[in-house]
Amino acid sequence: MNRTARPHTGAPNDTPADARRRMTTYNGTRLATLPALGRLPAALRRDIHVVSHVLPFRVNDYVVDELIDWDRVPDDPIFRLTFPHRDMLRPEDFDAIASLLDAGADPRVVRDAADAIRWRLEPHPGAQLEQNVPHVDGEPCHGLQHKYAETVLVFPAKGQTCHTYCAYCFRWAQFVGMKELRQQASDPSVLTDYVARHGEVTDVLFTGGDPMVMSTEQLERHVSPLLDPSLDHVRTIRFGTKALAYWPFRFTTDPDADALCALLERCVDHGKHVAIMVHCTHPRELETPAALAAIRRLRATGAVLRTQSPIIRHVNDDAVTWATMWNRQVGLGMVPYYMFVERDTGAHRYFALPLVEAHRVYRDAISSVSGLARTARGPSMSATPGKVVVDGPAVIQGERVLALRFLQAREPAWCNRPFFARFDPTATWLDQLRPAFGEERFFFEE
Ligand code: SF4
Repeated sequence: MNRTARPHTGAPNDTPADARRRMTTYNGTRLATLPALGRLPAALRRDIHVVSHVLPFRVNDYVVDELIDWDRVPDDPIFRLTFPHRDMLRPEDFDAIASLLDAGADPRVVRDAADAIRWRLEPHPGAQLEQNVPHVDGEPCHGLQHKYAETVLVFPAKGQTCHTYCAYCFRWAQFVGMKELRQQASDPSVLTDYVARHGEVTDVLFTGGDPMVMSTEQLERHVSPLLDPSLDHVRTIRFGTKALAYWPFRFTTDPDADALCALLERCVDHGKHVAIMVHCTHPRELETPAALAAIRRLRATGAVLRTQSPIIRHVNDDAVTWATMWNRQVGLGMVPYYMFVERDTGAHRYFALPLVEAHRVYRDAISSVSGLARTARGPSMSATPGKVVVDGPAVIQGERVLALRFLQAREPAWCNRPFFARFDPTATWLDQLRPAFGEERFFFEE
């Protein structure tokens, strides 16, 4: 395979510098400058303004101009995914912030009130800070997480932001100035020193924020050391990113897109499996010419594109959307990987679906696609003890139960061992489930 071959569309080197797309971003404080918002009723604009004081908000002109259908706002799924909504907060919390803003309160007072609300929104679910940060010689390796034996997560310091701040993602806490909640690695040697001591680590996952917001030069500082022969036990380098969906120009016409693709090619040429973990929430994200060009370009590097997303209310909570998304991904040469359950953090009350409902959507979607799209696993919860998939309701010895299984676990021996919870049509997370058959605890709690 000629890895230097360029795709036929969006060829970066053919794009004159003055024709390259430059990103314009909007956050909570720049909301008023977003022209499209002028089309919305004043009450809706005020709701967005109020909620953006608690939950972080960011969007760019590509999402506004090419992904959101403004004729369908406020119910457009990409608008719902991206813009704050008053139902993301408890009514009393919304009213508290709105009253302070209406009274012209000092910004510090507003921020303190917002912080108090944020701490109630589970800014670090799954006890990640306490349980997943590894240690070397008794010292914590800040910016790394090592939960499953084979995989180390790295949070590069320069990649601590995203093209959008999804209010259902545990990373929201990193974006609101709660510094004590940041996880970041400034020095690439933190990762390489740790991995060098851990021969069991086969996968390194660059996450963030979004590692693809970093310049290629910054990214290279972290990635290149992994190509050293002493780290041959690292076979897979993964990059979790939403850039393909929300800024596909990162891989085609951005000034250092060529260098990024060359870096990925170099990893492949060193025998690494390069996996781009594409955060793709709705099929529309894969429709634009820019997204299609980015997919072709990335695939030409030899990287494999795997897709994942949570199932979230108002955005993708129906089987047709998922089946359409998975079919489209397979058609584009991508590999459907995960349907996640919305975590118990942030705007959980707004986006969450009961596990039973999430399973119904998964089952209906997976049963309507071809075998190549049935690589998607789910619905899966990234919970404290591991990744738990909901296999669905069942009746066993007359008792209605919910069948569950670990896909990944702190203890590898827990994987794929079925366990059963009492049927609960309202539970949205593992900690709300109770063991079936009169048991006091699930086996992994013993
Ligand atoms: S990491 Fe992904 S899901 Fe989380 S806020 Fe960033 S883009 Fe959204």
